[in-house]
Amino acid sequence: MFVDLLSDTVTRPTEGMLRAMMKAEVGDDVFGEDPTVNALEAKCAEMFGHEAALFCPSGTMSNQIALRVHTRPLDEVICDEMSHIYQYEVGGYAVNSGLALQLLRTPNGILSADLVEAAIRPRYDWLPRSALVVVENTCNRGGGSVYPLETLCQIRAVCQKHGLLLHIDGARIFNALVACGGTAAQVGVLADSLSVCLSKGLGAPVGSVLIGSRAFITEARRVRKVMGGGMRQAGYLAAAGIYALEHHIERLHEDHLHAQQLAKALAEMPWVERITSPETNIVMFDLKPPLTAAIFLEKLLEHGVRAASFGPRTVRLVTHLNVSPEGVKHAIKTFCRLRF
Ligand SMILES: *Cc1c(COP(=O)(O)O)cnc(C)c1O
Repeated sequence: MFVDLLSDTVTRPTEGMLRAMMKAEVGDDVFGEDPTVNALEAKCAEMFGHEAALFCPSGTMSNQIALRVHTRPLDEVICDEMSHIYQYEVGGYAVNSGLALQLLRTPNGILSADLVEAAIRPRYDWLPRSALVVVENTCNRGGGSVYPLETLCQIRAVCQKHGLLLHIDGARIFNALVACGGTAAQVGVLADSLSVCLSKGLGAPVGSVLIGSRAFITEARRVRKVMGGGMRQAGYLAAAGIYALEHHIERLHEDHLHAQQLAKALAEMPWVERITSPETNIVMFDLKPPLTAAIFLEKLLEHGVRAASFGPRTVRLVTHLNVSPEGVKHAIKTFCRLRF
């Protein structure tokens, strides 16, 4: 048996999803003529309470476009040091948009309105201009942590008070919504833009959607084109996204349950030093020295379980569509067998 807990990006399309892709109606989306892409964009905009949306090849591109459209060169973006835009987008904020980041430090990647407000710079010629706040919901490095709706409202209020914009990196926003019980529109209206991944927990093979006002998306289309992200008969991919939105949101609670089962078993293991209770589909834990993540992951893989290293002694497990209850049992049995 092989259980892949490396990431929720490793999922394969289901039969139903493949069928939806095969029979998609398509056109040239650079001319705005792909009916399936248009349907996906309209669906996402409506779900999140915004005017418009844009189908992008990746979450990285969605975020990079948002940074570019919301800012000018020499602006500063306030975000957590765990943020994807800082950690995993190759420093694109600097090259694509000429930005600096102000990194805030929190235990789990969840900013508070007070932290954000304290980070906003006064307007002097010699300081970067605070222009945008980016929050990540759920926060990957934070262990799949979720923003309480109340915290987002407070951050929104601080942004409005000081004339800053707010972007939500919602690669796993549906995991957050399933965990906290809010609606997409409740969260959506708080942000000037959101990026939502279809290729993570939702199980589509490719794609992300950037959501915002009509004016924002009009400009975002131009930036997507200059980044090389204008796709032609992209409806085949958009069809997978529509299918995922219709069939794969409600099941996310199973992934969350699986993450809790894995975490509960790990908490009993003598080689685990620290583990926090997972809020969504990500389990992050530290190994007791001298055990290293490299050695641990190698042993795990010998038993057919794959996971990721997130530091010298930190390991991440992610549950998803292709992790079955039997897979979880197999992983737990493997944990019990390992001796270090
Ligand atoms: C995966 C991820 C992205 C980027 O998505 P890609 O499609 O891999 O480029 C952005 N933000 C967060 C929080 C992510 O987890």
